[in-house]
Amino acid sequence: MRTIDVAPLPLSELEPHLDEVAAHRLRDGVAAAQALLEGRALWIVTPTDQAGAGPVETVAPLAGYARGLDVDARWLCLDAPAEFTALSGRLHSWIHGDIGDRGRLGEKERDLYEHTLASNAENVAGDIREGDIVILHDPATAGLARPLKAAGAVVVWRCHAGADLATASPEGVEDAQRAWAFLDRYLEDADYVIVSCEEYRPPFTEPEACAVIPPSIDPDSPKNRVLDMDEAWSIARLAGIFDGEPPFDAFPFIRGDGRTDALRSAAAEGGVMRAGGPVPLGARTVTQVSRWDRLKGMKELAIAFAENLEALPDDAHLLLVGPCPDKRSAAERVLDEAVEAVELLPAAARSRIHIAAVPAHDREVNALVINAVQRVSSVVTQRSIVEAFGLTVAEAMWKKAPVVASGVGGIRTQVTDGVDGVLVDPHDGAAWAQAVADLLLFPERAAEMGATAHESVRRSFLPDRHLLQVLDALAAALE
Ligand code: UDP
Repeated sequence: MRTIDVAPLPLSELEPHLDEVAAHRLRDGVAAAQALLEGRALWIVTPTDQAGAGPVETVAPLAGYARGLDVDARWLCLDAPAEFTALSGRLHSWIHGDIGDRGRLGEKERDLYEHTLASNAENVAGDIREGDIVILHDPATAGLARPLKAAGAVVVWRCHAGADLATASPEGVEDAQRAWAFLDRYLEDADYVIVSCEEYRPPFTEPEACAVIPPSIDPDSPKNRVLDMDEAWSIARLAGIFDGEPPFDAFPFIRGDGRTDALRSAAAEGGVMRAGGPVPLGARTVTQVSRWDRLKGMKELAIAFAENLEALPDDAHLLLVGPCPDKRSAAERVLDEAVEAVELLPAAARSRIHIAAVPAHDREVNALVINAVQRVSSVVTQRSIVEAFGLTVAEAMWKKAPVVASGVGGIRTQVTDGVDGVLVDPHDGAAWAQAVADLLLFPERAAEMGATAHESVRRSFLPDRHLLQVLDALAAALE
């Protein structure tokens, strides 16, 4: 396994974002939990540390706050070959009831899974002491439960995926059941399970050993910190995603410390924009930011936009943004499918759809680009088919963007329809276009919705609530 550096985050940085009651609750809750964690290390394991995936975004601030509280928190990610990543990607999408990947989950796959995780476990098992806590994230790490428990740890498995099998297709239900059957034996050793959304609880969990805890966003991270509009436009243009001169060239991070070279050379070589070129000056942009996963419905979104062009104002453009995928990965195939679908559309639609793949190996640079793009967009959309929790939805709401999102899974707890965003049926393109058009045509209503959305996130989706709930879950796991 690989250790990821985590800088301590003092809770005092969070307090300016909280009202007095929430700040008080946080101080009290944390003081109680410190006693519980005293003398224990907290090991957090994610499949990867690459930008563009929910667990990474969720773990980074919580690990930072834990270290800020003097908890010995350590973040590790797996060392795994590409075949393992493909296999864990399959498990992940099958749990979602996805039917795109017809691959296998047989004995060969089990060998690969167990062999990879056994060598990762060996790496750390010797450093784990009796009573330490391990939080494993997602299907890729579930197989670590047994060896790390045997090393003396209390093991919590946190699953960010899931699907409402009552509404999945028969093939989707079958895939999900096969994925759970594959994971079942590894999860028997987990002392506690955390899921993001009530409806997506795994079939085997006992209610007393499972908590529903939605993730949160970090308001001070590069992804969410305040950028003024000049900064935001500068970054979005320097990244090559929007046309026009950067209005503000005094942003040192982007200008010249070497870290943004990959981004700037990708932009200069035209490697960021995969379809449609940069969004033109004067366009009003409807943006979706996602991983390249079929469950995010990127291709279907482009088609819905094209089929409902007449319902939308003439200057409305669609922008799909995701991380630059590894070569020959499943994500690259999904990105290519979206690009190919756009190429087949009539010219009138094609010229108004833009696809960007942003370099992701430098998390901070990637996060700043996403931050900027979310801020300069007129509407942010998340038209996922399944979603246990949409971090992108919370990020956009925090930035006061009007959001049009699928009324599925955890998104239904994030957005109150018509109040702080709009929920639509993910299979109804006309309803999606109408909702977007209404927000573009009535900017005052959109601004009001964005302001309400910001307050909703402040109340429910910042790390204070999240941290306290996770501490409660750890206390329950230790009982
Ligand atoms: N993201 C990113 N760079 C990208 C695309 C996505 O940093 O190019 C981030 C996005 O901002 C969000 C996370 O990846 O923080 C995705 O989390 P979400 O809950 O929306 O979906 P998941 O990937 O967990 O299914």
